[in-house]
Amino acid sequence: MIRYDLIVVGGGPAGSTCAALCAQQGGRILILEAARFPRDKVCGDCLNPAVWPILDRLGLSSAVRCLPSTIPSIIRFSVSGHPELEIPIQSDRDPSLSLEERIIRRRDFDALLAARACELGAGFRDNSPVTNLRRYSGIWEITLASGEKYHAPRIIGADGRNSVIARLQHRYPPKPRDARIGIQAHIPHPSGYDGSLAMRIYRNGYGGLADLGSGMANLCLVANKDSMRELRLEAERYYGISTPVVWRSITPISRGQAKEPARDGIYLCGDAARVVEPFTGEGISFALRSGALLADILCTSGGLTSPPSSLQDRSYRLAHAQLYGRNLWINRLTRFLSEHPRIAHLTAPLLLRHPSLLSFLTKKVLNPKNSDVE
Ligand SMILES: Cc1cc2nc3c(=O)[nH]c(=O)nc-3n(C[C@H](O)[C@H](O)[C@H](O)COP(=O)(O)OP(=O)(O)OC[C@H]3O[C@@H](n4cnc5c(N)ncnc54)[C@H](O)[C@@H]3O)c2cc1C
Repeated sequence: MIRYDLIVVGGGPAGSTCAALCAQQGGRILILEAARFPRDKVCGDCLNPAVWPILDRLGLSSAVRCLPSTIPSIIRFSVSGHPELEIPIQSDRDPSLSLEERIIRRRDFDALLAARACELGAGFRDNSPVTNLRRYSGIWEITLASGEKYHAPRIIGADGRNSVIARLQHRYPPKPRDARIGIQAHIPHPSGYDGSLAMRIYRNGYGGLADLGSGMANLCLVANKDSMRELRLEAERYYGISTPVVWRSITPISRGQAKEPARDGIYLCGDAARVVEPFTGEGISFALRSGALLADILCTSGGLTSPPSSLQDRSYRLAHAQLYGRNLWINRLTRFLSEHPRIAHLTAPLLLRHPSLLSFLTKKVLNPKNSDVE
């Protein structure tokens, strides 16, 4: 039986980042991933500029830029029934936007991160859903759906917004308060599409269209479950989608944050610990940053070979709260509006009449200097 220093459950951006940085420090790390890689995922496929400092640390910035991807130069905001507004982004003349927003398939991005974790020494088992977790004399035993068992003193739950680890540890508030659902499809470019990043407020929810290159685009929609069918049909009409496409879905869109992201050698990062509203496209950057933050704390204060300590737990809890405490007001505002689509549909046209305000909000979200990553 191999005993690992750390088992990371979930090989998405948070899990692979944390595993890669811990493996780089020499720990015996294993990633257990439920899906068979590479895999697609419900996501808008937008990388916020705040990801680049973490990708630099992972030695991956050039490799990510070599993957099939596009860089949008304008965001087009629209509200059904009103004229649309274009906001230029990533202008060479604006140094605050020097790191680019990039559109990239999650299938490619997540596979590259997981491969990097393996290069740095982490083990990676895909097609391995974790179903149970128990503790014997200070060591955690993880059980897979197949019945196989793995052991480590520390476990990281990086298994996304429906984290099994958080649920088994009773760290989620009893019920997600959110009845919304997200759906996503990769579609051929709609006729006349100019490759802009298009954010649209519908009567029942919102959607985003992003250019993946090679004539394909990512279409994402968010709405209450009972309004989704209507929204999907409206979006299909709007974008002229006449042939069947494969829609993937995910729920909940938001949920109360996990009670404690660190306790008793069980740590949560990425969406498992806290989700942010998809509208601003910051979830991947928070996943990378919380994964890196956790790796730094686990590898410095006492190191991975010493037993888990309450000092490490406390350090992570504080640093995690700080990471999410800053600069999320625009994200919270979009969540409020998305949860109240009628208010959103009334107020969004006012924003469209004030391009400088919308431009200010866009720059706030896209300026990596507004994140706390150095
Ligand atoms: C509609 C929508 C659109 C979005 N658009 C964007 C966007 O454009 N840009 C952006 O930055 N963010 C976006 N997000 C958010 C983003 O997708 C997430 O924040 C990000 O994926 C979180 O990364 P993670 O590593 O924490 O979790 P995930 O990416 O969810 O990865 C978790 C991994 O854990 C695995 N797993 C789950 N359960 C188990 C188990 N029991 N055992 C083992 N493995 C398990 C899963 O298979 C998965 O690979 C969007 C979200 C939604 C819902």
